[in-house]
Amino acid sequence: MSRKHVNKGTSPRKGDLPTKDCVVCGRPFAWRAKWARDWDQITTCSDRCRGERRRKGSTGEPAP
Ligand SMILES: [Zn+2]
Repeated sequence: MSRKHVNKGTSPRKGDLPTKDCVVCGRPFAWRAKWARDWDQITTCSDRCRGERRRKGSTGEPAP
C-alpha cells in the first residue's frame, strides 16, 4: 500500500511563515527574513522573477 502525499488546500504545519503566490511564475513562496521590511510589497519569489516582472512593466518601481 502506498500512501499518497496529498497537499490540497490545507498546508501542513511547516512553521508559521506566511506565503504568497509569485505573480510571475505563479508558484507559492514563503516569507523570508530579508523581506521582513517590505513583505507587503513582495510579489515575486526571486530576483529572477522580479526582473521578469520589471521587463513586463507595471511595477510601479522607479527606474534607476
Ligand atoms: Zn516566481
